[in-house]
Amino acid sequence: MIFVCDVMLGKLARYLRTLGFDAPYVRQGEDPASFPAPSAGCLFLTKRQDRAVPPHTVVIHANDPGEQLLEIKEIVEKYVDPAAFMTRCIECNTPLADVPREEIEPLVPEYIYHHHDRFKTCPSCRKIYWEGSHAGEMRGWIEKLIDRDG
Ligand SMILES: [Zn+2]
Repeated sequence: MIFVCDVMLGKLARYLRTLGFDAPYVRQGEDPASFPAPSAGCLFLTKRQDRAVPPHTVVIHANDPGEQLLEIKEIVEKYVDPAAFMTRCIECNTPLADVPREEIEPLVPEYIYHHHDRFKTCPSCRKIYWEGSHAGEMRGWIEKLIDRDG
């Protein structure tokens, strides 16, 4: 499932990427028409409420990104795949690539290197990820999302 996030939903896009979703972000001045068209496999998330809501479009009301995520919890949770966590760059939405641990040694703090076994990098912006590095504040939200009983 692709979630195209309209302008003003940049933080929500990062949350969705943390969960492993393809979440392109429409920046100020960019044309949403140049992004994947809304369809059964691609929802358009927006804060615009000034027109009739087109198909496959979800209007987000909350301002807080955590609350925004809860607004779409019912939509998102059926697609959440814990195996997909940490597979996508939260900065630029690019799928991450595995990197051998040896290659990462000069690039991360020693403490991080010695306490983590798996590392990934973004082929586009070169940001380095390790388990736990971009869950952080998200952890609680992720646990709520994957808790099917709650
Ligand atoms: Zn990146």
